Amino acid sequence: MAAVSKVLIVGGGIGGLVAARALRLQGIEADLIEKEPRWTVYGVGIIQPNNFLRAMDRIGLAQPCLDLGGAFESWRIHDAQGHVLADPPGTRAAAPHLPPNNGITRPKLHDVLVKGAQDVGVAIRLGTTVADMHDDGAGVNVSFSDATTGRYDLVVGYEGVFSPTRHRLFGDAYVPKFTGQGVWRYNFARPAEMDNGMVFFGPDTKVGLVPLSPTLMYMFIVTAEKDGTWYEGPDIAMEMQARLKGYGGLVERLKQDIVDPAGVVYRPMMNMLVSEPWYKGRIMLAGDAAHTTTPHLAQGAAMAVEDAVLLAELLGAHGTLESAQQEFMQRRFDRVKYVVDCSTQLATWEMEEWRGIHNPDADQGGLLHRATTALMAGY
Ligand SMILES: Cc1cc2nc3c(=O)[nH]c(=O)nc-3n(C[C@H](O)[C@H](O)[C@H](O)COP(=O)(O)OP(=O)(O)OC[C@H]3O[C@@H](n4cnc5c(N)ncnc54)[C@H](O)[C@@H]3O)c2cc1C
Repeated sequence: MAAVSKVLIVGGGIGGLVAARALRLQGIEADLIEKEPRWTVYGVGIIQPNNFLRAMDRIGLAQPCLDLGGAFESWRIHDAQGHVLADPPGTRAAAPHLPPNNGITRPKLHDVLVKGAQDVGVAIRLGTTVADMHDDGAGVNVSFSDATTGRYDLVVGYEGVFSPTRHRLFGDAYVPKFTGQGVWRYNFARPAEMDNGMVFFGPDTKVGLVPLSPTLMYMFIVTAEKDGTWYEGPDIAMEMQARLKGYGGLVERLKQDIVDPAGVVYRPMMNMLVSEPWYKGRIMLAGDAAHTTTPHLAQGAAMAVEDAVLLAELLGAHGTLESAQQEFMQRRFDRVKYVVDCSTQLATWEMEEWRGIHNPDADQGGLLHRATTALMAGY
């Protein structure tokens, strides 16, 4: 018999929706609440490396992502003018039957996840959040914002980087920290010559082009930004264009087409890691609520999804909640810490280089290769 029979997932993002489906596949009842009254996912893309696809495959959702996305082998590295510097191979060591990478638009991924949850009977309530909850040792009594109540064996806070459940468990002990960089993204028609992921290193920025389907791709540009800076509104397309100064070739040609302010998405980069364990009694955290990373390894959502699939499998296999939670932490903490630490190191070296600081220890290519290889291992 499973360690729990009824779980509340708070937050209908990538990790929460996967967790709810994975629990149902273990025969565990799953309710999911999302604070937004309507689904509001913004329209750029997510990169799914091979280990992300492996986790999705364990709950039967890798193929739908591949059907709606743009699989690609690897990242071809260029200078700012578009000359190829390196063409390292991708890896499918986590799941040899799946491609090394898949790019998918956030709305299409969302459709796969919502359908995946609904198909197995997850009860989803939009426009609802937790008003209060109390763990009495045998269960958690939850009052919802719509004045209803429920009792659960386990509550999992999957509310992302500014998680109220984290605050409830740990107060102000964990505050996401701005890392000094921001990322700008914009979707384009995919040019005929694009047959792979592409990265371009400029003197003080980095650009990437990511396949999203046979006909669509997105551009990201990583820039140094001041803490507290936020960009939106009518000038944001011009702001993104201005940051592409100094690039030639394909990037220069694409720059002219960044014209729709509503299509530009800017996000500051943050990191944070909650020390283990990520739970107190029957209330726990997972995904970005427990660990937020910069996207240098494209592993944030991958870690949220791995958390979700493993947690459900352990809750299904263990006789008690406590032993399932203990094994969960043993198998998740070091792996997630590695992602946060490597991503932070890559960001630090990148920014040193942009400022003209020569760091003899900096080895971005080596660390990227080692980390990508290490993350393909089982966990
Ligand atoms: C610029 C950028 C690029 C990225 N690129 C990649 C990538 O290519 N590949 C990758 O793997 N990862 C990437 N990530 C990381 C990835 O987006 C996150 O790691 C992932 O979305 C985390 O999933 P989550 O479910 O934990 O949280 P989220 O997806 O943030 O979902 C949280 C959900 O909880 C809801 N919520 C919040 N508060 C409450 C509440 N009180 N009650 C109910 N609901 C609530 C929110 O509305 C939201 O729907 C990127 C991140 C950024 C910022």
